[in-house]
Amino acid sequence: CGIVGYTGHVQAAPILLDGLARLEYRGYDSAGLAVRDGTAPAEVVKATGKLYHLADKTDQGRALPGNCGIGHTRWATHGDPSMVNAHPHVSGNCTGSGCGPVESDVVGVHNGIIENFTELKEKLLRHDYAFYSDTDTEVAVKLVDYYYKKYKIGPVDAITRAMVRIRGSYALALMFKDYPDEIFVARKDSPLVIGTADGASYLASDVPAILKYTRNVYYIDNLQVGRISAGSVKFYDLNGDEIQLPLTEITWDA
Ligand code: GLU
Repeated sequence: CGIVGYTGHVQAAPILLDGLARLEYRGYDSAGLAVRDGTAPAEVVKATGKLYHLADKTDQGRALPGNCGIGHTRWATHGDPSMVNAHPHVSGNCTGSGCGPVESDVVGVHNGIIENFTELKEKLLRHDYAFYSDTDTEVAVKLVDYYYKKYKIGPVDAITRAMVRIRGSYALALMFKDYPDEIFVARKDSPLVIGTADGASYLASDVPAILKYTRNVYYIDNLQVGRISAGSVKFYDLNGDEIQLPLTEITWDA
């Protein structure tokens, strides 16, 4: 339901929690974070119920080191509201609590609904993927992982291949183990903005989540992909060709 992301020069988790709090008004049943500290595996922390449970688990984010991360508040559409179904989801296996370092190649959060997730899940099951959750999101993350490994291609190309196969709506934010300090995003029929300020990059499903940090945003359009790091933002079309998006200055206040 709500997505935030940060990659820059300060600790990510407190910024992610703050951004998620600004999206609370949209409603949610659980929340989670994935944060990376350099090349170390992403650390995933989830909590059901209110955001303060997630904040308490991480000492308001202070207990999670790392300057690159993604956060999510979930409004369940596929699978009960539960710890195991809460985002972030991973391309590998996940412990029941969904907490701790994950060795997976891909970790991601998602807003929206993957309409053909049953068909995609069957395809992935045939390719020896196992599923720990009931979500459509886990299917999307594992589909990206499938193309990433099958064709040994970069994250942008793996994501666009998955986008061609996915029907439905999505704002996706993904981190790849081999690409520290970078976040990859994609969208279709679900809002997503990218912001930049002071050598840091932000992403959010809604501008108020990041308005405290920046007023310079890029609105990603349907079927576009973004690649963000501390000093750079790049956008791509469905063919994987780089495109330029206009920078918009936000003049209103939340
Ligand atoms: N369909 C996804 C799920 O049920 C995402 C829901 C959302 O947008 O929060 O996990």
